[in-house]
Amino acid sequence: TAALDVEALRRDFPILSQQVNGKPLVYLDNGASAQKPVAVLDAMDRYYREMHANVHRGAHTLGDRATAAFEGARETVRRFLNAASTREIIWTRGTTEAINLVANGLAPRLREGDEILVSRMEHHANIVPWQMVAERTGARVVPIELTAEGELDMDAFRQRLGDRTRVLAIAHVSNVLGTINPVAELIAEARALGVVTVIDGAQAVPHFRPDVQALDCDFYAFSSHKMFGPTGIGVLYGKEALLEAMPPYQGGGEMIERVSFERTTWNQLPYKFEAGTPAIAEAVGLGAAIDYLDRLDRTALAAAEDALLARANALVDTVPGMEIIGTARRKVPVLSFKIAGLHPSDIGTLLDQQGIAIRTGHHCAMPLMDFYAVPGTARASFAFYNTLDEVEQLFAGLRKIQRLFA
Ligand code: PMP
Repeated sequence: TAALDVEALRRDFPILSQQVNGKPLVYLDNGASAQKPVAVLDAMDRYYREMHANVHRGAHTLGDRATAAFEGARETVRRFLNAASTREIIWTRGTTEAINLVANGLAPRLREGDEILVSRMEHHANIVPWQMVAERTGARVVPIELTAEGELDMDAFRQRLGDRTRVLAIAHVSNVLGTINPVAELIAEARALGVVTVIDGAQAVPHFRPDVQALDCDFYAFSSHKMFGPTGIGVLYGKEALLEAMPPYQGGGEMIERVSFERTTWNQLPYKFEAGTPAIAEAVGLGAAIDYLDRLDRTALAAAEDALLARANALVDTVPGMEIIGTARRKVPVLSFKIAGLHPSDIGTLLDQQGIAIRTGHHCAMPLMDFYAVPGTARASFAFYNTLDEVEQLFAGLRKIQRLFA
């Protein structure tokens, strides 16, 4: 495929062409949240200017337009995930709410001594909701340990997976390490034992397209804001039969079929899980983000991202005392690191003075920080709109900081 014209792509993201602290912005915090193309901004603007009203009320033309745009976005998400039906696509506030929804929905199936298998590399969003449900039900949250490289220890996984396991909840991609977990294999082995599988796709969808039918997972969660869409919306994909069997998450308007003081019944899927007025413009924005990505050459994007990571890896040796945390064989372009003699938060502050944005801290993955015995890491996370020159600038910045402060 043809090489990516990154400079042309960057013009789609107006926020990137600004100065920060007197320097051209180098935005390398995409793992925390990605920037938005004009196509997303325009879709949301147009929605509010031309079609906003509440959805699913059916009383007037604007309401019909808003409903069509909102449900159209749901169909776009269904296509993106290759789900069988839009009944399986639930809007949430993001990955966090999606996982809380599943954890609550599965609670009635959990008994004393049941096990919920997670991994040590999980984001807190895929640990804490399970701990809360475990607290209520007497189930236990059990971690799968890792190798030093930051891959799942597959032997440990097979030892942990057993007759007590009810749920496997695992990240498709680690937000700290960049590791791409072999989820298809994990799901197949778990499903063979009747274990319900929940995939946290928050860090996967900015880089590639998951196929939920090919993966055969029961649930798949992601956030719009990490895949170039707006904040405030995300998705829970769930297999229809499981969603049907789950109790609603929140009560209110929209999620009911009929309410009386004697007996209230639930709406059909997906509305059973969507109490209250939804984030309509945000759904439209996410649909526009997916449409935008669909117009790009995904293979070329992936190749460009691989080149960014390769360049970064090649430059590590130019910074004395720099060490990468997470050297899995299959990775998205995420680089967590430490530099001897420097605190991660100082690295972040000193880079910011040079216009370079990275993230530092525990990255909502404290059990993983414990594993590597670090208080936190510095993390540069790349998107397809980053350039090789920006990678060079990051390392020039790190060399300067190391020379002056380490
Ligand atoms: N899981 C992973 C792997 C993440 O990286 C994040 C965001 N940092 C989340 C879950 C939570 O996503 P959100 O804050 O959008 O709900």
